[in-house]
Amino acid sequence: MTMLDTLSAATDAEFLAKLVAITGEKHVINDAHEMALYLSEPRELFHGSAICVVRPGSTAEVAAILKLCSETSTHVVPQGGNTGLVGGQIPGQGPYREILLSLKRLDKVREIDVSSNTMTLEAGVTLLRTQQEAEKVGMLFPLSLASEGSCTIGGNLATNAGGTAVLAYGNARDLVQGLEVVLADGRVLSNLSKLKKDNTGYDLKHLFMGSEGTLGIITAAVVKLFPRPRGLSTAFVGLSSPQNALKFLDLALARGGNDVKTFEFISRFGIEIVVRHGQNTRDPLSSQHNWYVLIELGSMSEASVEDTMMGILEAAAEAEIIEDAVVAASLDQRADFWRLRELLSELQKFEGGSIKHDVSVPVAKLPDFLDEALAAVAQRFPGVRPVPFGHLGDGNIHFNITQPVGADKDKYLAQWDAMNTVVHDITLKFGGSISAEHGVGTLKRDLLPAIKDPVHLALMKTIKQALDPKNILNPGKML
Ligand SMILES: Cc1cc2nc3c(=O)[nH]c(=O)nc-3n(C[C@H](O)[C@H](O)[C@H](O)COP(=O)(O)OP(=O)(O)OC[C@H]3O[C@@H](n4cnc5c(N)ncnc54)[C@H](O)[C@@H]3O)c2cc1C
Repeated sequence: MTMLDTLSAATDAEFLAKLVAITGEKHVINDAHEMALYLSEPRELFHGSAICVVRPGSTAEVAAILKLCSETSTHVVPQGGNTGLVGGQIPGQGPYREILLSLKRLDKVREIDVSSNTMTLEAGVTLLRTQQEAEKVGMLFPLSLASEGSCTIGGNLATNAGGTAVLAYGNARDLVQGLEVVLADGRVLSNLSKLKKDNTGYDLKHLFMGSEGTLGIITAAVVKLFPRPRGLSTAFVGLSSPQNALKFLDLALARGGNDVKTFEFISRFGIEIVVRHGQNTRDPLSSQHNWYVLIELGSMSEASVEDTMMGILEAAAEAEIIEDAVVAASLDQRADFWRLRELLSELQKFEGGSIKHDVSVPVAKLPDFLDEALAAVAQRFPGVRPVPFGHLGDGNIHFNITQPVGADKDKYLAQWDAMNTVVHDITLKFGGSISAEHGVGTLKRDLLPAIKDPVHLALMKTIKQALDPKNILNPGKML
């Protein structure tokens, strides 16, 4: 039986035949077993369905698919590396006739222009490969996430990803010079510009970054490259409180300025999880502390970076802001430190269910937010084990709460919305955001009307209507 014989609906058969004509039969998948890989996501919160998975190999093929989908009112869910944490890349969550558009075959690095400090690449190139291609020419692409081996540049830009280098280099949108986007009707918005200066009207690329596939399909981008720091110094630091972590951040920035590339914050329980369940992991310091900071400096001067780090640590110890610290003595030790931070997201599951929050507040408010939110969840949900960690330098904390020891996982997770409400209310009270870097997708869609300024929300809907009047692009996500 051929693929087309297996179809029950004649309209779908005709539609699939047209897709096959665009990409070739090999790249239109509707076998349930093969599709399964694309239809669930890292947290296993969402399991989807679709007419098929289609894997175009060029911008022209994406454009032809979108034109066909527009003409047949077929909905399109774009997917890159499928590492998104809010369900945005999973079809079949609403009453829509959807295809999953995998962008992974768009995997060419089209050009690296060292003098312009740019790389032009296609949406399906993984973040790790983007970093490696930059390194080959002695440059740096600074975006860095624990999912970098799988996530794609297209997905990073569509979610405006954050990660561990935002403090020094900004979010994904700050790293983009130009964009190529296929619109809902199949037209191609081609703006692969390398220009640093171009004030000839609205800068449309920013509409698509952070739009989670609801306004257009990103097929290629011109990203910014940076000088590669010649000297790196990485330290693990133990502290008694978030208040002291904030003082340590202020001190580090005052002394290290833009050389402070990373300032990551981890609770003691977070370290325990990684040491207990991770391979090749161990406590970073000989003594135990309530809180830890992973700080990394990067400098164009190899000679001075160690001195700057030592100056920061000595001043912090003298002021009794930090309790202990160890500086990585080798690249292997640096990798050990980073492993403690990067494994944390994935190892939490070994402690049972976790209710998660990706929140941000103004940096100065972070200690007060943590005090209040930790007290509130302890009081409302006795026995829970908080694992707050994340990007303190950006005011962004993954406020994850693990179930009490021995609790029933499903019963615990059934409190997801109730706990979200407690944490989000405190976040909003401090002028924060309920989605700092992971986006909205379906996970947080229904929360937007209550928290977004009505004028802002109305403008978002107007833009969606203007760019995608038939609502074929990732329907039911974000809005
Ligand atoms: C272990 C782990 C750690 C993580 N750490 C971080 C972190 O530190 N910071 C952070 O920000 N995120 C983090 N994430 C979340 C995730 O990796 C990011 O959101 C990433 O940017 C998603 O990229 P992706 O290619 O996997 O996109 P997908 O998951 O495939 O898609 C994400 C969204 O983008 C849309 N999309 C994908 N490609 C395109 C395209 N070409 N055009 C238009 N729309 C598109 C999808 O429809 C979906 O709405 C982490 C995830 C995991 C599993």
